[in-house]
Amino acid sequence: MQFLMLWEQMEVFTMSNNNDVLLSARNIRKSYYIGTPNELEILHGIDLDIRKGEFVSIVGQSGSGKSTLMNILGILDRQTAGEYSLNGIDISNAPAKELAKLRNRHIGFVFQTYNLIARTDALSNVEMPMLYAGLSPKERRARAEELLEMVGMTERMHHTPDELSGGQKQRVAIARAMANNPDIILADEPTGALDSGTGRMVMDIFHDLHEKQGKTIVLITHSNELAAETPRIITISDGNIISEKTQEIKIIRPTAEERKEIC
Ligand code: ADP
Ligand code: MG
Repeated sequence: MQFLMLWEQMEVFTMSNNNDVLLSARNIRKSYYIGTPNELEILHGIDLDIRKGEFVSIVGQSGSGKSTLMNILGILDRQTAGEYSLNGIDISNAPAKELAKLRNRHIGFVFQTYNLIARTDALSNVEMPMLYAGLSPKERRARAEELLEMVGMTERMHHTPDELSGGQKQRVAIARAMANNPDIILADEPTGALDSGTGRMVMDIFHDLHEKQGKTIVLITHSNELAAETPRIITISDGNIISEKTQEIKIIRPTAEERKEIC
């Protein structure tokens, strides 16, 4: 108990004394054992800093190591070597039971296959992370309704995932990712299973979250076209960062009417 309190204090301390770097990866390596004596190294020493408020894409071909990297950045998996810190907290030294809490509080995930809970309506799916964060039923409900409204899903909030289209499911998943007001959203091929019109709508939601709410977003994609929409593009190939580019972006958005037609 005492240790937990110390940990909380340490977190506050590191956050308030940190500059604006949110994610910091140093020489991250990831290997898998594929039967003795073979070890297959997938990530070969990734160095990456992501600052508060950035919208970054990590782009690369299938098999280049994007999801492996995202799983480490999202504390879903651990690196084999190297250092990784989130909000100034060195993850490799964090007690195991703190990792889930860190994830729940600081990171919102969006996956290609939505990962919603089946036979559970949109509202309850969005409420779930808040349940773990300890919010009251009333607070959870109010915030979930607000988030579903933000992604234009108010009318379908009582529908279960199997009653929703791919685009609608992804909108629910984005609302869920925002539930605990995370510092960062990690999205792994969020439009990968969607047609281009619906994918466009999902990208527009990310742009809105970034521009209007200042969210930090990491978009993992194999699509150069999607990556081209973000102010910072990191290209990964065979487990190495091979290039990095920053750019000013200007996006022509569809009008509200055009969006309605798409949905
Ligand atoms: P991407 O998301 O860019 O398509 P991944 O990160 O999923 O790539 O995979 C990168 C490489 O790591 C691939 O060659 C994949 O086969 C391999 N890989 C992923 N997970 C494992 C695992 N658990 N064991 C062995 N190899 C793996
Ligand atoms: Mg992948």
